[in-house]
Amino acid sequence: MLFQLPSPVQQIFHPILEQKELQLFMKRDDLIHPLISGNKWRKLKYLLHKAKTENKTHLVSFGGAYSNHLLATAATAQYFGFKSSGMVRGEAVKNEVLDQCRLMGMELYFVDREAYRDKKSLFKAYFSQDTSAFFIDEGGASAEAIQGCEELFTELSEAYDHLFCAAGTGTTASGILNGLLKTEAKTQLQVIPVFKNGEFIRDAITRSSGNNYRLNLHLDYHFGGYGKTTNPLLQFIIDFYQHTGILLDPVYTAKMLWAIFDLAQKNYFNAGEKILTIHTGGVTGNWGKLNEFEQIDTNFTQKLKQVLTEKFS
Ligand SMILES: *Cc1c(COP(=O)(O)O)cnc(C)c1O
Repeated sequence: MLFQLPSPVQQIFHPILEQKELQLFMKRDDLIHPLISGNKWRKLKYLLHKAKTENKTHLVSFGGAYSNHLLATAATAQYFGFKSSGMVRGEAVKNEVLDQCRLMGMELYFVDREAYRDKKSLFKAYFSQDTSAFFIDEGGASAEAIQGCEELFTELSEAYDHLFCAAGTGTTASGILNGLLKTEAKTQLQVIPVFKNGEFIRDAITRSSGNNYRLNLHLDYHFGGYGKTTNPLLQFIIDFYQHTGILLDPVYTAKMLWAIFDLAQKNYFNAGEKILTIHTGGVTGNWGKLNEFEQIDTNFTQKLKQVLTEKFS
């Protein structure tokens, strides 16, 4: 599967948007690649250049058991002919995402949560003898990743009043903010942190540009914390799919889209405004929620399994 870049922009139609006279568009970064989806390709691109320049042939990175980033790293390594290793947080588990990583040649190491905190030390402990090993931080967070995410902004041909993205490390938002600040556009950046007490992400997002006057954080859409979901959130993924045919991921984009609709209903936006939301990908994260979906809607779950299986085929 080749890369689809620049990713397409699609208008989203929904009764709530119509009622509030809003135009919502989605940049479909989820379509960039089935496994190297969304911001993960943008974040890896310049890291890969750096690895090549330094003659490093072995990518080493970090993530949780359903990590979109590890999956993307494994697929990128396979595609571009690198060796890859993934350090997985927590006790040894088996699931579709990790199996797929292994199938793409990634060597997996499970490390306990305490040791996992210090990634540089872990890298040293495991790979200090391997001169070909190249360290990639969790989620790809780096100056190179910010640079890659800034390119998303240069692909836009229209101006928007609001630009929405979900935030984990804040790297993607940081790159977008850098791009935004180089233009005359009055676009407001709207960021949804997907974990509790997300205020600290403001520093991470503005560190690179030193500027935050375009940045708005919405802290109340974490749904209990990172990776946590509720039945209404999963139901929202199903409803959104039924309305649009677009699958969201349970960790990031579902929370962001929920926030957009919630803010619309609370009249956060002015009638006539144009909103762009970034589908940062990660749809394969739904593997981890199949049992919960099954409790809500077996028909949808069947379809979901089919879509996810296709991505892995
Ligand atoms: C990793 C990821 C994010 C978070 O990106 P950051 O740059 O770490 O803020 C957002 N959405 C999806 C789908 C992701 O996989």
